[in-house]
Amino acid sequence: MKVGILGGGQLGRMLLQAAANYTAETYVLENDPGCPAAHLCHHFVLGDITSYDAVYDFGKGLDAITIEIESVNVDALEQLEKEGVRIYPSPAAIRIIKNKIVQKQFYKDHGIPSSDFVITQNRANTEAHADFLPAVHKIGEGGYDGKGVQVLNTPEDLVNAFDAPGVLEKKVAIQKEIALIVAQHTDGSTAIYPASEMMVNPALNLLDYQISPALIPEKVLWVAEAVAIKLVKALQSPGLFAIEMFIDINGEVWVNETAPRVHNSGHHTIEANHCSQYDMLWRIILGYPLGNTAPILPAAIINIIGAEGHSGPAHYEGLEDVLKIDNAFVHLYGKKQTKPGRKMGHVTVMHSNYHDLTHKANKIRNILRVVSGSKS
Ligand code: ADP
Repeated sequence: MKVGILGGGQLGRMLLQAAANYTAETYVLENDPGCPAAHLCHHFVLGDITSYDAVYDFGKGLDAITIEIESVNVDALEQLEKEGVRIYPSPAAIRIIKNKIVQKQFYKDHGIPSSDFVITQNRANTEAHADFLPAVHKIGEGGYDGKGVQVLNTPEDLVNAFDAPGVLEKKVAIQKEIALIVAQHTDGSTAIYPASEMMVNPALNLLDYQISPALIPEKVLWVAEAVAIKLVKALQSPGLFAIEMFIDINGEVWVNETAPRVHNSGHHTIEANHCSQYDMLWRIILGYPLGNTAPILPAAIINIIGAEGHSGPAHYEGLEDVLKIDNAFVHLYGKKQTKPGRKMGHVTVMHSNYHDLTHKANKIRNILRVVSGSKS
């Protein structure tokens, strides 16, 4: 089977690592020939994943296509689907998720708990909703990793509101942020991974580290799992879906957003679960049975992020010390250049005891640094 991946970042790279266990012939479309996935696929195609022609030309000879990012040309995928190329997830599901306005409306229409919202067209329109604050303002399309998300607490904050279509949603009093990954097979059967719990770095608005299975009460987990399954069933698409949720201070569950693809919150599944999220997506694409999502040991993921003040060729300080730690697995994404906040890799560490696990995660976070040769 000829299978294409739109996007050549680290998620594509890890998908390709898992593909090597099967017989798929792999293709990657990406406009950066030095991207993390470029050297792991059978065929690298240089091109823009947002361009109709580039995506259509890339896809027309393939049996199946998947994505590692949602900012792809959905019109081309729809045409390819009509011509018989199988797309995971379906273009219809990507269209719903790609735009936060459509995504929020979808939750509302399907009875999925997600914080109340109003749609905003521009800054003037947002300013008219001062009575809706405190709120979180999200750009409709093009936001990622906290970019395109603004917390607007008071009317004074409204002058900085971005001037583009988006949603203004009620600020949730967050107790915990969790993510659940659900796999949906073409036959409609599903498998769900244990919830992961995210620890966010408020300065960068990036994930700091994450533990899995999440330490949450069983009854909250049941609600979260039921919501995740309901959401994926409503999307009516085969594929892998990561659902980010908030647990508020009252223990209520709210969907923040969904990613219709393999996800950061599932990196640890490579070592810490019987079937990784990457292997699971290949099983779906290749028509094999779903795998076993059970955890082998509790795990933490520590993102390796470019240090402040360092831009240039990447050097990894403390790598040898990390590699001395039992059950620590280093993944470097092959990005030659570091810059502040750039995701350069991750470390998964496993331990049967959560106290020791978080201790090790903190230790790794403190000893590993990505720096450049010269300060900039
Ligand atoms: P991105 O897709 O760019 O990561 P998110 O929608 O996940 O953006 O938002 C980034 C972060 O902002 C979340 O992880 C959460 O900490 C905070 N956030 C987002 N929406 C809300 C909300 N409605 N209430 C409170 N905090 C929020």
